[in-house]
Amino acid sequence: MPTPNLVIRGPRVVLPDSIAPASIHVVDDKIAAISSYDNVPEGCKLIDADDESLVMAGLVDTHVHINEPGRTAWEGFATATRAAAAGGVTTLVDMPLNSIPPTTTVTGFREKLAAANGKCSVDVGFWGGVVPGNNSELAALSAAGVVGFKCFLIHSGVDEFPNVTEDDLRVALPELSRLGALLIVHAEVPGPIARAGISAAAAGTNNEVNTNKDFCPTQYATFLASRPRAAEDEAVALTIKLSSEFGARVHVVHHSSADSLGLLRDAKAAGIRITAETCPHYLSFAAEEIPDRATEYKCCPPIRERDNREQLWTALGDGTIDMVVSDHSPCPPEMKLRETGDFLQAWGGISSLQLRLPAVWTESKRRGFSLDDVARWLCSAPAKLVGLGGRKGLIAEGYDADLIIWNPTKQFRVEGEQLEHRHKLTPYQGRLLAGVVEKTFLRGRKIYDNGEFIGEPCGLLLV
Ligand SMILES: [Zn+2]
Repeated sequence: MPTPNLVIRGPRVVLPDSIAPASIHVVDDKIAAISSYDNVPEGCKLIDADDESLVMAGLVDTHVHINEPGRTAWEGFATATRAAAAGGVTTLVDMPLNSIPPTTTVTGFREKLAAANGKCSVDVGFWGGVVPGNNSELAALSAAGVVGFKCFLIHSGVDEFPNVTEDDLRVALPELSRLGALLIVHAEVPGPIARAGISAAAAGTNNEVNTNKDFCPTQYATFLASRPRAAEDEAVALTIKLSSEFGARVHVVHHSSADSLGLLRDAKAAGIRITAETCPHYLSFAAEEIPDRATEYKCCPPIRERDNREQLWTALGDGTIDMVVSDHSPCPPEMKLRETGDFLQAWGGISSLQLRLPAVWTESKRRGFSLDDVARWLCSAPAKLVGLGGRKGLIAEGYDADLIIWNPTKQFRVEGEQLEHRHKLTPYQGRLLAGVVEKTFLRGRKIYDNGEFIGEPCGLLLV
C-alpha cells in the first residue's frame, strides 16, 4: 500500500459500525485504510482530533436551492458552498428550480453547469425536474448526469417550474422507470389548501377561493391553517399509489405531516420503493412557539405543532423517515416582508445549509438519539439516495476522504450575521446550539479550519 499523504486520527472516529479510536490513512483524495490509532507511518502529515472532538464523514445535503443562474441575488454557488464547507457539508445536491432557466432541459442544465464551474467549495450534484411536457428531455438529462428528478404536485412558487398532475406523472413515470431514475416529490396537493380557503396567495393556486373568512395574516396560526396536513397526506397517498403502479422509485421531500407517517410506514412494509426526508426546522421548532409576524419561520409545507414534531422524531427513530436534509431555500430578506409580517404574502423558505449538523444534533441529543443515528441521517442515507452510497457519506476504505472534525459538546449562539449564507435572516437567530465544526476536508484537502477557508474552491461538479 502506498504511504499516505495524510493521516487524520482521533480517539472518537465515527465508523460504519462503531465510534472508536482510529487513524484514517488518506492517499490522494481517497481513504486508503482505517487503521489503529497508533499506526501513523513515519513522515506523513498528521492531523490529530482532540479528546472532545469527533472525526466523522462529511455531511451530504441532497436538498439545496442555489438559485444560480437567474436568481443569484437569492443565493449562488460561491456563497452556498462556502456555507456548506463551514457547516461540515462536503457534498450537496442542487434543486432544479428557482434558478433561471430551471434544470428541466439539457440546455438549462448546461447553463447551470457553466454557472457553477469553478465557484464551488464542496462537491455539487444536480437534480433535474419533471414538468408538464418535458418527457422528451428526461433521458438526455439523465445521461447528462442529473441524480434524479423532482416534481411538484402544487404550484412551486415560481412560474417557470410548473407543477404536474397525476395525468402528467402517468406520462413521466414509465420513462423514469425505464431510465431507473428516482422521482422526488414535493408532496402537497392543491385540493385541501383551496378548501382551507385562506387566500389565493397562501394556497399558491389560481383557484377561486373563499377569502371571506376571518383571519389575520400576521398570525402564524393563519398560515398553518392555510396549508393543512391533508394536503400532504393526499399527496403522499398519490405518490405511493403511483410508485406501486409503475414500480418507480420515489422519495418524499421535506415531509412534515405526522398524519401520513402511517401511510409511509405501511408502504415501506409492503415493499414499495419509497423513502422520505424531513428538515431541521420541522424537528426544531413548533407552531405554538412562533411569534406573530415572524415570517422567517415560513416554509412549505409549514412547521407544524409540537405534537406533530415529536411524531416526526419517532418516525426518524423507527426508520419511517430516512434522513434529514436542509431544504436550504433562500431569498432576499425583503421578500420575507418582515415590515408587514404578512405570512400569506411572504416568500416561503428557510436557509439552514450551514446549521444542519448542530440543529439536528442538539435536538437528537435531547431525545436520546446517538451519534450513529445522526451520521446516518445526515451523511450516509442522503448519499445513498442519490447513488453516491459507495463513494460518500461513510468513513470506509475506498471512499472519498471527505471528513470533518467537530466538537459535539461545545455550544454557540446563532448569529445570522456570522453565517456564510448570502442572506442572514434566520429563525435560528439567538438559538443556543451544540456542535461546532472545526475542520472540513474535501477529498483529502483541508478546505475549512475554525472560521478560515483554505485555498481556492476545489469542489467537483458530480455529473
Ligand atoms: Zn425545497
